[in-house]
Amino acid sequence: MGLLTGKKALIFGIANDKSIAYGIARNLKQHGAELGLSYAGSVLEKRVKPIADDLGVKFCEECDLTDDAAIETLFGKVKKDFGQFDILVHSVAFAPKEALAGRYIETARDAFLTTMNISVYTLIAVAKHAEPLMKENSSIITMTYYGGEKVVQNYNVMGVAKSALDSTVRYLAVDLGASKSIRVNAISAGPVKTLAASGVSGFRSILSVIGESAPLRRPIDIDDCGGAAVYLASDLAKNVTGEVLHVDSGFNIVGLFGVGNKAE
Ligand code: NAD
Repeated sequence: MGLLTGKKALIFGIANDKSIAYGIARNLKQHGAELGLSYAGSVLEKRVKPIADDLGVKFCEECDLTDDAAIETLFGKVKKDFGQFDILVHSVAFAPKEALAGRYIETARDAFLTTMNISVYTLIAVAKHAEPLMKENSSIITMTYYGGEKVVQNYNVMGVAKSALDSTVRYLAVDLGASKSIRVNAISAGPVKTLAASGVSGFRSILSVIGESAPLRRPIDIDDCGGAAVYLASDLAKNVTGEVLHVDSGFNIVGLFGVGNKAE
């Protein structure tokens, strides 16, 4: 018996086989979960459908999460195909490329609103639609990043969105914990080369720093996020909610290190 045998998982955010959501999906599957996928739009179809076939999913439906009517339609299909379910993975974010370089102060209103809408509000929207369909003691998981806790050069508006996302996790944890004992947690991943990450200016340098200065001196991969998601989705984490679980080789715990021992 797998840790997730008998559980059903709805996963948002697979764009291709590099996506963190794909790493999560295949790990949930390996531990026995039945999967349903939703992807952003028709341009992704030719990449996502083969992945869905490979994973043997129950359904794979398009849904632009900025479109309330599309969300409504999607959850109608989820209700039909899944009925009640146990796990929701939100691995969705977007910011216009020009907002991910240079000075944060230059962020345009449109770029700010788009980023917050797609990277934060979509979690609230899917949680609200999912609540009536999720079982007692089920689990919602989203993806965040250290740039929401501390300044990371060029991460800019996405850092501000991740702060808001972390806070949203805590507010949703209170709402959904009280109503149905649904848990809401975030995984804070170290840098991984994906479509979304390639939009951040200087991403290659961010990636190399973690290999040099994180306690474990190595980068993480999408299966590391998958392992953390299996834990958060399983009954092993039955009393864990409102948390941000760092999967970053320990990078976030270090303040200042490497100055040597000599008093000068
Ligand atoms: P990705 O590009 O593979 O995934 C981002 C997903 O968001 C894509 O599937 C995209 O289609 C989806 N999306 C964007 N707009 C959407 C919309 N309107 N409706 C529905 N879906 C939409 O990149 P990723 O790195 O796997 O990103 C997944 C999550 O992980 C994001 O929240 C990202 O911020 C977070 N994260 C990534 C890293 C990293 O280094 N890659 C680190 C920490 C956190």
